[in-house]
Amino acid sequence: MQVIQSTKLANVCYEIRGPVLEEAMRLEAAGHRILKLNTGNPAAFGFDCPPEILEDILRTVGTAHGYGDAKGLLSARRAVMQHYQTKGIDLSVDDIYLGNGVSELIQMSMQALLDDGDEVLVPAPDYPLWTASVSLSGGTAVHYRCDEQADWMPDLADIERKVTDRTKAIVVINPNNPTGAVYGDELLRGIAEIARRHNLIVCADEIYDKILYDGVTHTPFASLAPDLLTLTFNGLSKAYRVAGYRSGWLAVCGPKAHAASYIEGLTILANMRLCANMPAQHAVATALGGRQSINDLVLPGGRLLEQRDTAYELLTQIPGVSCVKPKGALYAFPRLDPKVYKVKDDRRMVLDLLRAEKIMIVHGTGFNWPEPDHFRLVTLPSKDDLTDAVTRIGSFLDGYGQY
Ligand code: PLP
Repeated sequence: MQVIQSTKLANVCYEIRGPVLEEAMRLEAAGHRILKLNTGNPAAFGFDCPPEILEDILRTVGTAHGYGDAKGLLSARRAVMQHYQTKGIDLSVDDIYLGNGVSELIQMSMQALLDDGDEVLVPAPDYPLWTASVSLSGGTAVHYRCDEQADWMPDLADIERKVTDRTKAIVVINPNNPTGAVYGDELLRGIAEIARRHNLIVCADEIYDKILYDGVTHTPFASLAPDLLTLTFNGLSKAYRVAGYRSGWLAVCGPKAHAASYIEGLTILANMRLCANMPAQHAVATALGGRQSINDLVLPGGRLLEQRDTAYELLTQIPGVSCVKPKGALYAFPRLDPKVYKVKDDRRMVLDLLRAEKIMIVHGTGFNWPEPDHFRLVTLPSKDDLTDAVTRIGSFLDGYGQY
């Protein structure tokens, strides 16, 4: 008998680790060195974890080998609570769930919310785990457009147009993966207004909230809209460079009285996965308190800022390539002018690049961008590696799809 995957997976895809990565692994197995620019994994590019975090994990690894509280270690939840309280957000330790990365919590949040056919407004382009998690939970991701001409800000009119009586939530990724956009307060208030009018839950994915360039600041969504039920997601993977320890949190903010049933559902799902990785939870309080070492990397002279600049400058020197300068996060999302590059299948294009130059990037349609005219590059490699990679992408593009 054939074993066939569940129909629940019919619309589930996650191209960041999709068929292009499989081809990259085949090439690696055949002895090629592949520069993998597909994931925002700081450790893979020589970023160390802050020593005090490592210390906390090492100190507890010998003792924290049992299951813990399903919602998370009390000291970690208290630290998350205090962190948001200092930003003017009112919440208690009971409103916080620790998870094995934000990824697990995104999936739990959608599973607890959606019935078949329910809709969630998700940005295009998006971090594709959101679309995949909505689909896996039986829902439909309805993509609202972020406008490249307006520095990739969400188009409020498009959001409003796409609300239906099945819409339950809106996802806001700020700072944004893949575009690097950071949203101002006025725009966030505009989104809040739509959520208020249509009774939507807001899912605020703020995992890059400390990775900000050029003096921009980040406002947590929940601090602007205390009257809305806002699920705020964040964790240790990016700002603290410990993606492999799988540690994130979900803070349920705003009025909870009318959401008791949903919160009960979330708690059932938290109980079912028993608990999140315990040693990493012991580092959460240390991470959130005191000096933030990510600042050394994003302020002038910092490695991440210099790499963002290098990637932006070199990408925009390639004929027919433009790019909105990222203001946050770890990526650039350049555009290929369709008048210059007649690309019909952008996954095919990144496969061709991989085979020709042994560089792996992710095609724009992998982020649910509707046209095959973008790609995403991570800005984590050293300046030398980025220079080499973007130069080779430029030579590959020279002549590609131009006919
Ligand atoms: N949300 C966004 C916007 C991301 O870019 C990522 C990872 O790249 C995640 C969530 C998942 O992070 P975690 O490692 O905490 O699962």
